[in-house]
Amino acid sequence: MLWGDKPYYSLDYFLKKTFGEKVMKITLDGGFTCPNRDGKIAFGGCTFCSSRGSGEFAGNRLKSIHDQFLDQKNMMKKKWKSNKYIAYFQAYTNTYAPVEYLKKLYDEALNEEGVVGISIGTRPDCLSDDVIKLLSYYNNKTFLTVELGLQTSNDHTGKLINRGHDSKCFEKGVKKLREHNINVVTHVIFGLPYETEKDMMETVRFSNNLDIQGIKYHLLYIVKNTKLYSEYLKNPSIYTLTKEKYIEILGKAISYTNPNIVIHRITGDAKREDIVEPLWSIKKWELLNSIHHYLNENNLYQGKFFNTNA
Ligand code: SF4
Repeated sequence: MLWGDKPYYSLDYFLKKTFGEKVMKITLDGGFTCPNRDGKIAFGGCTFCSSRGSGEFAGNRLKSIHDQFLDQKNMMKKKWKSNKYIAYFQAYTNTYAPVEYLKKLYDEALNEEGVVGISIGTRPDCLSDDVIKLLSYYNNKTFLTVELGLQTSNDHTGKLINRGHDSKCFEKGVKKLREHNINVVTHVIFGLPYETEKDMMETVRFSNNLDIQGIKYHLLYIVKNTKLYSEYLKNPSIYTLTKEKYIEILGKAISYTNPNIVIHRITGDAKREDIVEPLWSIKKWELLNSIHHYLNENNLYQGKFFNTNA
């Protein structure tokens, strides 16, 4: 196996190789909002986005970065042995504030003991010149990754989910970051309303053609108190993913993914009490085992079909 025990280039493998040991991600909430929610770009946000700005497992935003960091670190210590961490600004749009505020927050995280890098989740339309300059500064100082939400390369679906930017904007965002050599991670969601398998594979192809270093494959979650949940109540048939179908789509996506791109995730995460669909995702370890079993049984591995048309 090229990447240890998994048939794909996992984040765990990449981090161990880079830092010589297991590195944990500590998810933080910097108290941001999002221009796709507050009216600067749109109101209400992406239809799937939860009230926590898709930062379900981030720390408590009422606490300081230091306290959030300690809370999460202590929680993780019970499960994993690790002394190295990446501080992950996950909730909402983590470059949507004056650069002075951003710097203060990023510095607080970087000063925590054991932090070897920071990861910043944001939108491709929230990368002003000042922000890029700041990110470039951190890129020279530490291991930096910037995570951008694409979800789909299909702009029709992008409108349906109220994403607030198109795929051209996404391409531009990636280009801006890459001009400064900053590592980019793309978020993709499979199972968005009305998307066909062809659309999803087109998103994989689109991502392969970008200069990105990482990708996160998520399955669509419908969680309570979202716009998508209201749509689902009116028309439950917008949710079509079965466990078997998701695994099949993911297997295909992995085998079409450029083997040099690190796969950060092969499922998403949602709070158990908030999940409406898919209930089969609640047993996460079972799902991960089924995915790995499927890949092995079908001799699928990352990049197997990279050079063929998805
Ligand atoms: S851009 Fe991110 S934080 Fe903003 S609404 Fe969409 S998913 Fe939520």
